[in-house]
Amino acid sequence: MLTSQSPISQLPRVGKSLSNKLKRLEISTLEDLIFYYPFRYDDLTKITPIAKIIPGQIFTVRGKILVIANRRTPLKRKIITEAIITDHSGSVKAIWFSQPFLTKTLKPGENVYFSGKTETGQNGLYFSNPVYEKITEWKKETLHTARLVPIYSLKDKITQKQFRFLIKQSLPYGKLIYDWLPLEIKKNLTLADLNFCLKQIHFPENNYYLEKAIYRIKFNELFLLQLQGQKIKKDLQKLKAEKIDFHLKETKKFTSSLPFKLTDSQRKSSWEILRDLQKETPMNRLLEGDVGSGKTLVAAIISLNNALSGFQTAFMAPTEILAKQHFKTLNKVFKNYKIKIALFTRTDKKIQNKNKISEIKKSALIKKISEGEIQIIVGTHALIQKEIEFKNLSLVIVDEQHRFGVEQRAILTKKSKTHKFPHFLSMTATPIPRSLALTLYGDLDLSVINEMPKGRKKIITKIVSPQDRTKANQFIRKEIEKGRQVFIICPLIEESDLLGVKATTIEYERLKKEIFPDLKIGLLHGKMKTREKEKIRLEFLENKINILVATSMVEVGVDIPNASVMVIEGAERFGLAQLYQFRGRVGRSEYQSYCFLFAESNSLNAKQRLNALLTAKNGFELAEKDLEIRGAGEIYGVKQSGFLSCLKLAKLTDYKIIIEAKKWAMKIINQDPELSAYPNLKEKLIELDKIIHLE
Ligand code: ADP
Ligand code: MG
Repeated sequence: MLTSQSPISQLPRVGKSLSNKLKRLEISTLEDLIFYYPFRYDDLTKITPIAKIIPGQIFTVRGKILVIANRRTPLKRKIITEAIITDHSGSVKAIWFSQPFLTKTLKPGENVYFSGKTETGQNGLYFSNPVYEKITEWKKETLHTARLVPIYSLKDKITQKQFRFLIKQSLPYGKLIYDWLPLEIKKNLTLADLNFCLKQIHFPENNYYLEKAIYRIKFNELFLLQLQGQKIKKDLQKLKAEKIDFHLKETKKFTSSLPFKLTDSQRKSSWEILRDLQKETPMNRLLEGDVGSGKTLVAAIISLNNALSGFQTAFMAPTEILAKQHFKTLNKVFKNYKIKIALFTRTDKKIQNKNKISEIKKSALIKKISEGEIQIIVGTHALIQKEIEFKNLSLVIVDEQHRFGVEQRAILTKKSKTHKFPHFLSMTATPIPRSLALTLYGDLDLSVINEMPKGRKKIITKIVSPQDRTKANQFIRKEIEKGRQVFIICPLIEESDLLGVKATTIEYERLKKEIFPDLKIGLLHGKMKTREKEKIRLEFLENKINILVATSMVEVGVDIPNASVMVIEGAERFGLAQLYQFRGRVGRSEYQSYCFLFAESNSLNAKQRLNALLTAKNGFELAEKDLEIRGAGEIYGVKQSGFLSCLKLAKLTDYKIIIEAKKWAMKIINQDPELSAYPNLKEKLIELDKIIHLE
């Protein structure tokens, strides 16, 4: 007995070779086949009387074969098969190349459909290589012609016909695939039966049913992701976190001690976070804000409240240099406070005491942390190290990492002597479109800083044509003479140059030898060791390097206020959101800053895209555009992630379905957090967890 879990090799006409080819499409069971959806449909529903067909278009006709025979072409000695079919209105010729077996498949007198493009030759109109399909008494339904015909994305010379045949064979077993979607949702949204949808998605009877099927399948995919997010959220609510008071007076005093006024967004985000912290359930929040929008200050405000409540904060950055930067910033803003701050990275352990920063031994620092003497610990992921133990860690802030694993959080929980779950804030400068955030980060609450501090000079952005390159170089030189610094970003020049070694090295050599031999130029690419990279970054930060040539991986978040020019080579090769990020590296101080875009392609499309960068109001606007143009995988590097692989049909632009799915996921989880009434759904969710944890 075959089931949906049976291997495809059990289907008729599937031998070892085809099995292997299908494996390369990640198809090994009948169910995999059923879930391998078409990427488009050819509408061949309309049947045209032969008398009505004209040259140069695609037609489907239905008729009887009059004659069929093979012959050789005079010159090339290739085999041509010719047939004539006729209907009540007329007759027409069909020609196939190099398919001599056709005379064995199709016989005179048989009824067939032909679908294909018509052409005109010396002897008039004919079908060139039409798709054919026989009509018999026992087989009335067609798969390849005279219908909405599914087209699949295939490789290894698997033909569409062959694949459709396999799908057709596997579809009956779709009945055995359990439908885990709760009945109340199906009823409420009048969703069609799953098995029906699976049939319709492959071989739609009409456009209406196809739409229904697409909606249902997209809903299934998105609902499951939403459900997972809501489940994580609900599970977190069962855990205990410290209740952190909002110290209104001190917070006001702190903000008024700053040399500037908080932006409304900073104020609102801080308030949202502080409100979360007053609850006894762990916060799980993402703070989004453009580069330079002042997220660090928000982090400082909440760390202050946490310290005043008597708890410890861990502030983690992805690199040592960023950790050092944050340490410096916090020391500056808390100059007049009694808060003890420490830096803990692999190579550097420092502590601030009475406004003096001094080195400290690792063991001594670890002791101070465990005794609770240090209130804010800034560091890299070295903070999760085994030896470190906190007295009462209640808040974890992570910069530039969107998601902090539940496991990582659990580790930190164990490290705190209170054994309470820490509140968690993640900060990112990547403008994540709402739909993506909802789907990918459904378990996180969102705070957004969507304005820049007042008084920032607008970055002057120019698309530079090749003939103006010399001028641009002269301009760069002038800026450097004024004491400023310059970034040059290079795109990958070839597929294999994954780490940008070649791209950057060529540019680096060119600048060093030909353009600016007298200046100090630095190089940064993906093949370099972490230590080397840190060294170069530090030299750039200390203005020992005038021009930094880098791949697209320039570390997000690095603050080099002295840099005033961002040059982007091959700009059209980057996504808009990415370009926006690059540009954000400059314009972080009082200096007027510039962004020069060099494009290799002169195409209208490239120009339009780059122009969007000149006009867009903020990063979110660009991110939405990018999402539409290029899809999420490209932009966020999440193509391979388990999350997106769950979305076979649904797209992140299916905003309405996402919202609907979220609504229902919340409803189900709220009424039945353990999903006891939905065993199938529960099982499906466990399966999904496994996929995602494999990442
Ligand atoms: P990011 O959001 O990229 O982490 P930062 O927190 O590094 O941004 O802030 C960038 C710069 O802006 C810092 O030098 C900071 O002191 C300054 N800044 C932050 N908030 C304001 C504000 N409200 N007004 C003026 N400058 C501000
Ligand atoms: Mg930052």
